[in-house]
Amino acid sequence: MLQVSYERRRKVRRDFSTSRSHVVTLIRQGDTVRMVEDARGRSTVPALLVTIPVRSETAGVLQLDFNTGFNKVFHDEDRTGKDYYEGDESRQTAAFFAIIQCATMNVSRVGSILAIEQLALSDDETVSVHYYLSPYRPNPDFEPFELNELDHFGFYQTYPQKLAGRSVFLATKFDSRKPIVFALSATIPASRRAAVRDGVLYWNRALGRNLVQVIDAPAGESVPSAQFNLIEWVEDGAHGSTSHIQDDPLTGEILHAHIFLDGPSFARSDTDDQDDFLSYVVAHETGHGLGLRHNFATGPATTVMNYFNPDEAAALGRWIRSGEKALEYDRKVMRHVYLAEPINLASLPPFCTDYQPGCGTFGERSKGHAAGPGGSAD
Ligand SMILES: [Zn+2]
Repeated sequence: MLQVSYERRRKVRRDFSTSRSHVVTLIRQGDTVRMVEDARGRSTVPALLVTIPVRSETAGVLQLDFNTGFNKVFHDEDRTGKDYYEGDESRQTAAFFAIIQCATMNVSRVGSILAIEQLALSDDETVSVHYYLSPYRPNPDFEPFELNELDHFGFYQTYPQKLAGRSVFLATKFDSRKPIVFALSATIPASRRAAVRDGVLYWNRALGRNLVQVIDAPAGESVPSAQFNLIEWVEDGAHGSTSHIQDDPLTGEILHAHIFLDGPSFARSDTDDQDDFLSYVVAHETGHGLGLRHNFATGPATTVMNYFNPDEAAALGRWIRSGEKALEYDRKVMRHVYLAEPINLASLPPFCTDYQPGCGTFGERSKGHAAGPGGSAD
């Protein structure tokens, strides 16, 4: 399995992104090794991803020129749905940026993952590109959830797979048979950590069990982390508060989730208010980290996956921190997708999400179009 994330240095601001994960096969062809997505026969659009030159070969060792082979970074992410590329599967690997010059900075092993960090030059930007290579071993306990349409509730979806002659989309989610652990980076100020914790643990009340856990990450651990689902505090982020996931592309199991909290946006007037607002944002971003998409439906608040004005958001955060039960949409949808509890679609609160006609954030509705998920407030 190949998983890629990268961080551009735009002036001084951190601009982190992930690329789409692939299950690949390595094929020797003359003096090159070709990395081909075959996805075990499930690819709808088979693709040659990388051609790596063989540098030398002895009886037991094949030496590859990694940096010559890995010379482009794709924009498509695992945080996606068929509406992102308008169902056009050929568009999926179309957009990338080229690497002009690069060097390997670090190679490490985390469990079965070989993590390679490449320092690259693209146009006039410096980019750190992180590659995870691991033997593909799907989790036998994970139960995929088929989610072909986004009519009633929304999760990010895997790219389409050919299964029994049809195209299938799976919801992205964690394995609910083991704890889902989020680690708080040492960058989160001591005075704000309780509010962050409250926001993450909101999801246990949605699930009705203590599946989500919060720990403190070791000092120095930063995104991307192969080992932890890290929540990091940034003072100079390019995208406001946001989240990223990397999944098993064939099952939808989320393997890595990272959340950035935009420090400057939590500097409202009064401290309690700041913490309440922070808890709401953390609950929202953790929801994305658990695979949930936005629900911008109008009416009374039924989910933290909507956007709210600052006062509404603080009120919601206060309510989250009070330990009250989770909102109806969050409760019903999470228990259905994660825990296979039955759901009554007819009585589910209304749903609409990014890109759907007439659906947008509170500020966008009047303009008649939706705010894209790549916008300034994720
Ligand atoms: Zn969001």
